[in-house]
Amino acid sequence: MKTFCGRANPTTGAMEWLEEDENYDYHQEIARSRYADMLHDKDRNVKYYQGIRAAVSRVKERGEKAIVLDIGTGTGLLSMMAASAGADFCYAIEVFKPMANAAVKIVEKNGFSDKIKVINKHSTEVTVGPDGDMQCRANILVTELFDTELIGEGALPTYEHAHKYLVQEGCEAVPHRATVYVQLVESKRMWSWNKLFPVHVEAEDGEKIIVSPSEMENCPGVPSVCDIQLNQMPSSDFTILSDVVTMFSVDFSKPVRSASTYYRVQLEPVKSGKAQIVLSWWDIDMDPSGMINCTMAPYWVKSTSAFQWRDHWMQCVYFLPNEEPVLQGEKVYLTACRDEYSVWYKLQKARGEEENKADVCVESPVCRCQAHLLWNRPRFGELNDQNRTRQYIESLMKVLKTDSVCLCISDGSLLPVLAHYLGAKQVQYFFLVAFFFLKFFKANHLEDKIKIIEARPELLTSSHLEDKKISVLVGEPFFTTSLLPWHNLYFWYARTAVTSHLTSNVTVLPQSASLHMMIVEFQDLWRIRSPCGICEGFDVQTMDDMIKNSLNFRESKEAEPHPLWEYPCKSLSDPREVLTFDFRKTVPQHCLSTEGSVNLSRKGKSHGAVLWMEYHLAADIPISTGLIQISNEKGNCEWNPHCKQAVYFFSSVIESETLSDLPSAVTYAINFNTKTGEIAMDFQL
Ligand code: SAH
Repeated sequence: MKTFCGRANPTTGAMEWLEEDENYDYHQEIARSRYADMLHDKDRNVKYYQGIRAAVSRVKERGEKAIVLDIGTGTGLLSMMAASAGADFCYAIEVFKPMANAAVKIVEKNGFSDKIKVINKHSTEVTVGPDGDMQCRANILVTELFDTELIGEGALPTYEHAHKYLVQEGCEAVPHRATVYVQLVESKRMWSWNKLFPVHVEAEDGEKIIVSPSEMENCPGVPSVCDIQLNQMPSSDFTILSDVVTMFSVDFSKPVRSASTYYRVQLEPVKSGKAQIVLSWWDIDMDPSGMINCTMAPYWVKSTSAFQWRDHWMQCVYFLPNEEPVLQGEKVYLTACRDEYSVWYKLQKARGEEENKADVCVESPVCRCQAHLLWNRPRFGELNDQNRTRQYIESLMKVLKTDSVCLCISDGSLLPVLAHYLGAKQVQYFFLVAFFFLKFFKANHLEDKIKIIEARPELLTSSHLEDKKISVLVGEPFFTTSLLPWHNLYFWYARTAVTSHLTSNVTVLPQSASLHMMIVEFQDLWRIRSPCGICEGFDVQTMDDMIKNSLNFRESKEAEPHPLWEYPCKSLSDPREVLTFDFRKTVPQHCLSTEGSVNLSRKGKSHGAVLWMEYHLAADIPISTGLIQISNEKGNCEWNPHCKQAVYFFSSVIESETLSDLPSAVTYAINFNTKTGEIAMDFQL
């Protein structure tokens, strides 16, 4: 069955109705899922298997039958491990229908159909009894319901319910226990993801400082977790202020309470500094003794031998509501508050215990200033990037004249403020989320200087512009609806829509954009889209086929966004400019396409192509949202730390050990359909 789904096209801005197969969401979910990554997570799989074997043995030693409840079975992997370890029966619960279907097939293919019953339900709907889904309560509880924040996927309420209704008292649990660790740090880089730093502008009449409204200073931000590949954060980007301490732990073999609560630890700073960030990660002990441990600890905490790359579990960055100066040796209290699904932190100077208790935070952080709803964390980082701001200032200085009438088209941009300080006579600002910006302009006494137009570009009228023509049109460009790099070409469509309001010799900044492409070998990211075949002796090819089928669900494969600073790769080809977009002209009617081939100049595995945009602000001032540089002879790449790049994974990987057996080139065909704003691409190895 087909259904029509309405959406605003992220590139052209046009409202469009797409005919979607009703399974489209399923396919998206599977194609972009973390199942492949989990199946490639050897460390996790091995330890689960060890933990499950040990739990089954303990139950058998007691002379009991081993009845397993596997909540969130996915491919059925953990149930198959339990059955192989000698469990008498497994109830494998999976709420997501396509996965439950896959689990049935995989279990059958591996010959466990008589030992494993797959139940396509949410665990809280499962019934126990002679006519129920389960004949009796289980005495082994196996789950893998954790996200980077441990509890974000609802592990606590699921465990709470399972202990009440689905498992026996004194059951064995794999994992047995999870422990959450924290470390206090100072980090200008990470702090810049949550606060707007003052922006310094050298104007003709002296230095101007753009400040944020006071609401922003004290705003706790948003509750959503900031999860990153912390192992890619160089130690020079943060200062450790405390030792690693245990914040809290959960024993999964006992009844679990999911109700909101808090935990408190005392920290003795090892260094004086500004406490800004709490870094956090967890580990799980698969058995009660703690001998089988799977940890997410970052590189400076654990030995390299314990290192396993994974993307489904990373590390968390929590922002304290305010930065707090701390002194070496002078104790402070760190409180972790949590509700059913998330955790947040608060730091207090050591005071009387009673006084502190009264002060415990119970409310989860809610953005009061609205900036955190407008700007996500990478966007904060980008706005705080002084080098980038300097480049915009330099370009604006080149194009602005005292009589310039300037129009800015970009979401949540500071460009209008810069343009005003740099001397534009009149600045108009297109913007849909005007409310926050009014406050922002007020804090800088600019509310009468910059006019916010709340209209879509195609609805712009001369009266909005007080009958003036625009002589300078600026944009970063940045739009919150952009997912892939080229979605910001919306600027070009908006520019086209306002053409009748521009002077004949209008200056457009950026004057043009270009799409760049490079063939790469990923150190690890390839795993998330790579078939697994056999996992710990179990045939999971059905899952591989399912992912492949979902990836091919649309005739043309799609590129997907990834922040590559978190995912090391090396370049196998030179970067190549493949398409250019001239913002000085309107969007053409015809498609823009290109074909060619790039030489593979380094040996390695060609996992895919990376694509990114570059903007040419004014002549000679380029800004790359992708590659910054190829840093060494090995081809290691440095990427823009604030942007996601587009990754197109090749369906088959070519591997070359030596330069001589390299296929010399990869041919490509790339087509930008100006009507739909979509980029289609094809690569031949
Ligand atoms: N156990 C598998 C898959 C883990 S992914 C493995 O370790 O490889 C977690 C799975 O749990 C997802 O497929 C999700 O759909 C499912 N899930 C999460 N909470 C659930 C619940 N309460 N009841 C049933 N399924 C759940």
